Amino acid sequence: MPRGHHNNHLKASRQQRWKPGGSVASNGYVKLRLGKDHPLADPNGYAYEHLVVWVAAGHQRPPPGLVIHHMNGDKTDNRIGNLMLMTRAEHNADHLAEDDRRCPRTGRLLPRNNSRSGGAS
Ligand SMILES: [Zn+2]
Repeated sequence: MPRGHHNNHLKASRQQRWKPGGSVASNGYVKLRLGKDHPLADPNGYAYEHLVVWVAAGHQRPPPGLVIHHMNGDKTDNRIGNLMLMTRAEHNADHLAEDDRRCPRTGRLLPRNNSRSGGAS
């Protein structure tokens, strides 16, 4: 996993709704305004930042049935190392499992190996 560059991301507030050049859509993903001429843009001229990052890294645009997943559960963390291609079925299952691992206070994902030994309902 590449480290050491773009560490300024770590200092940025996770809660901010606006990012440089983009905004957080209602579904939690970051959208960039690229203009309607951009190949990745939707008819309104916007594209998902994770899709732009994915393609810029040399990958194909995901075919139907495949989705780009954010491994740490933070949909605004669009560093290429946080992105992963999976099938829609895998993706749904992963997010269902995530709900069980999400911190109720911060909404952040807890580590996958977190043992819930307390078990206080
Ligand atoms: Zn996902």
